[in-house]
Amino acid sequence: MSHRLPADFHMHTHHSGDCDTPMEMVIKQALEKKLPAICITEHMDMDYIICETDPAGKFEVNTDEYQDELFLYKEKYKGIIDIYFGIELGLQPQIVKINADYINKYPFDFVIGSNHLVHKKDPYYSSFYEGRTEHEAFMEFFESTLENIQLFDDFDVLGHLDYLVRYAPNLNRDYRYKDYSDIIDEILKTLISKGKGLDVNTKALYSEPSLGDLNPSKDILARFRELGGEIITFGSDAHKAENVALGFDTAVEMAKACGFKHYALFSNRKAKFVKL
Ligand SMILES: [Zn+2]
Ligand SMILES: [Zn+2]
Repeated sequence: MSHRLPADFHMHTHHSGDCDTPMEMVIKQALEKKLPAICITEHMDMDYIICETDPAGKFEVNTDEYQDELFLYKEKYKGIIDIYFGIELGLQPQIVKINADYINKYPFDFVIGSNHLVHKKDPYYSSFYEGRTEHEAFMEFFESTLENIQLFDDFDVLGHLDYLVRYAPNLNRDYRYKDYSDIIDEILKTLISKGKGLDVNTKALYSEPSLGDLNPSKDILARFRELGGEIITFGSDAHKAENVALGFDTAVEMAKACGFKHYALFSNRKAKFVKL
């Protein structure tokens, strides 16, 4: 059976600390959009910094409850849509062992490794950019990403490689791959050598204001392919049901233009390639 849109392998429900969406609403939306499969990827960010808006443990999912609910729906929708058990794991150098033990404890199908904190600072907040150039802030982000993926292996794709442009003071107006090509190439080569892929994240496409690009940007996606990268998954990063698979038409066109002929689904931590 051929499907118009690819599977959505990055989405959140009420088990994530920043999301209220019931799980079944997300599944029904995926059915409406005739997706071949979905993978729910709740937030698990351990040792997160504590600030006024983010109380301790805000981004730590209750994984047992999450797993129980997901398996209930997996069974209910069997033969109708494939629902995979995923996690978006926050990478940090001081919790490499904690993260590895956590991943081994649950039967995840798919693990997104995300660089949400940069040396214990959150690039979501404007304070991350204060007192320095945007270039310096971005460089620190990419350096910490590289460090994290060098230290940690137990993930399948790197989440939204350059997503901090969504929150930077000038958004992505002055952001070009070529200004960061050395460090970004190191990140891409590290991923390829470890057999890891990229989360092709469409949130910046459909968010207001739209940045008109993916995370990673299409230049980076093209570079990944050029360097021999094969594994990409598509992710809406939806926190609301209506955002499931949003921007996927554009994302598929961009991925094809970058030279990709397949995308990946993950089951039991193994990639399965599907024609684009
Ligand atoms: Zn994320
Ligand atoms: Zn996410």
